[in-house]
Formats: sequence, structure tokens, C-alpha cells
Amino acid sequence: MIGLIINIIRMRCPRCRKAPLYTQPNPYNFRRLFEMHEQCPHCGQPYEIEPNFYYGAMYASYALAVALFVAVLVILTIIGHNEVEVLLPTYFISLVVLSPVLFRLSRSLWIHFFVKHDPELAEKK
Ligand SMILES: [Zn+2]
Repeated sequence: MIGLIINIIRMRCPRCRKAPLYTQPNPYNFRRLFEMHEQCPHCGQPYEIEPNFYYGAMYASYALAVALFVAVLVILTIIGHNEVEVLLPTYFISLVVLSPVLFRLSRSLWIHFFVKHDPELAEKK
């Protein structure tokens, strides 16, 4: 389970966990933010399983945005500044700054729902 979570965060192929999902590792390179490999360079797993596959990643993106809100709320509560006047601007600024990362993480999370890890395939090549 922990390996799965680490693999989602590292944005690697869900099947072999060797090759990256994205052509450009930096999510703040906005020209290439959306560019993914068509298939895994290591095992050949297609990354777009069916047309418009990543529309469903919006659900994962929503869940990540809610998780970010909870994280900001917990941090502000710990440091003693959980007033609404502080919470909302802090949340929206962190949401805007982290949106490229959340976008990529949501796609990574979404493909990991549908493609299972194959440890034997990871050993090949
Ligand atoms: Zn692979």
C-alpha cells in the first residue's frame, strides 16, 4: 500500500513503476504541463487507456483540493491562526500555487485506479 502511494506521488507507470508518466518532470513548465508519454517506455502500458480517459481525473482533483483545504486548516489551527480571514486567502493562494502539481497528481491517481502493478513485468528488461 505504501509503495502504491509513493508511486502515485512519484508519478510513475502504474504497471511497472519504472518509467515516468510525464515527458517533463517539472510541473511548473507550463508549455509542457499536459504532455504525457503515449505509452510506458519500459513496459508499453498505454497511458490513455480509452478516449477522454482523464476526464475522470476531475474527481481525483476535487478530492486533492479538499485534502489541501484540510491540510491548510490543520496547519493554521496548529499555529493558532485558523480565522476565516486567514484561512481562505491562505487556501486559495496555496491552491493556485499548487494547481500544476495537483493536476498531475490527479491524473496519476486516476490511472492507478485502473491499472494494477505487475511486479514480474518490472523485473523484465
Ligand atoms: Zn511501465
